[in-house]
Amino acid sequence: MSAAVPPLTLEAIRSVPKVLLHDHLDGGLRPATVVELAAATGYDALPTTDADELGRWFREAADSGSLESYLETFAHTCGVMQTEEALVRVAAECAEDLAADGVVYAEVRYAPELFAERGLSLDAVVEAVQAGFAEGERRAAQQGKNIRMGTLLCAMRQHARAQEIAEVAVRYRDAGVVGFDIAGPEAGFPPTRNLDAFEYLRTNNAHFTIHAGEAFGLASIWEAIQHCGAERLGHGVRIVDDIKTGPDGSVELGRLAAYVRDRRIPLEICPSSNVQTGAAASISDHPIGLLKRLRFRVTVNTDNRLMSGCTVSSEFAALAEAFGYGWADLQWFTINAMKSAFIDFDQRLDLIDNVIKPGYAHLV
Ligand SMILES: [Zn+2]
Repeated sequence: MSAAVPPLTLEAIRSVPKVLLHDHLDGGLRPATVVELAAATGYDALPTTDADELGRWFREAADSGSLESYLETFAHTCGVMQTEEALVRVAAECAEDLAADGVVYAEVRYAPELFAERGLSLDAVVEAVQAGFAEGERRAAQQGKNIRMGTLLCAMRQHARAQEIAEVAVRYRDAGVVGFDIAGPEAGFPPTRNLDAFEYLRTNNAHFTIHAGEAFGLASIWEAIQHCGAERLGHGVRIVDDIKTGPDGSVELGRLAAYVRDRRIPLEICPSSNVQTGAAASISDHPIGLLKRLRFRVTVNTDNRLMSGCTVSSEFAALAEAFGYGWADLQWFTINAMKSAFIDFDQRLDLIDNVIKPGYAHLV
C-alpha cells in the first residue's frame, strides 16, 4: 500500500461509495422532522418537542435495554407517518441523508400497514413513499450525489397480513419495490406462519429476505432458509452458534453454517443495532469479525439510523477501529452488498464496475 493512501477517518469514509441493504424507513427520521410532522398532523404524544433533546431521547430509549421503551420509539415515528405528505417528506429526506453519507444504492424497508392507521390504503402508502424516494433521488442528484433507492415491503410477524403485503410487493415490482421481508418479534411468531406468502412470492419469481437469527438462534435461521426460501438473512448473526472455535484458533463449521457460507447467503449485519438489543456485547466483540474472516457473504447495515445514531459510514468507521479494517475491506463489504441486492444482475454489475470499483481504485 502506498504512503499516499489516506487514513480511514469518518470524513474519508463518507466520500467513498457504499451500499445499504437493511434500513428501516420508520427508524431513520430526522428528529426535527418528527417534531414538525407531529405539529402538522396533530400528534401530541412526543416526549419533547425540542429536536436535539428528542434525538437524544430516541438513542437513550433504544439503548435502555427495555423492550417497552425500544418499541415506544417506533410508536412515535409511525405516529407522525400517517399522511401522504408526511410519507413523501420522510422518504425524500431518507434518500437525501443516505446520499449525503455516500450511499449509492440503498434498499429501505417498511411495513405499509403501520402507516395506514388513519385510513390510508396500502397502495396509497406505497405510492407516497415511492414519490418521496424519487424526489429525494432528484434532490441528491442536484447536489452531485447519485443514489438509487429500492424498496422492500415488510409484513409484521404478529399480524396476519403477509399474503396481502406480498401481493402489494409484486404489484409494485416495476415501480421500485424490489423485495419483501418479515419483521417484528421472533418469539412465538416463527416465519413458517407465513408460508403461503413465501410460496406466492416464489411462484412469482419475487425476492425476499427474512429477519432471522438476531435474538433467536439457529432454528430461526434454518426455518428462514430451508422452510421459507429466504434469499438473504436480516441479521443472521446467530449463525456463529453453529461455528466452533478452538483455543488453538481452529474453526469448525456445523452443517447449517457451512450451507449458509457455501451458498453465499448474504448476512445483513447491523453492528450498532445488535449492541443496543444485546445480541452482541460491543462492536469489538461482534461476531462480524469472525464471519468476515471466514468469508461469509457479510454486508454492513444501519437498521435504525435514528435509534442507533449511526450511518453506514459511522458503522464502517467503528468496524475499522475495532478490527483494523482498511479500504480493501470496506470495498469488499460494499461489493458483497451490491452483489446481494434485489435489482437485476446487469444493473448490479454496472454499479460495481462503474461506480464502486472506480470509487475505491485510488485507495486499494
Ligand atoms: Zn431490521
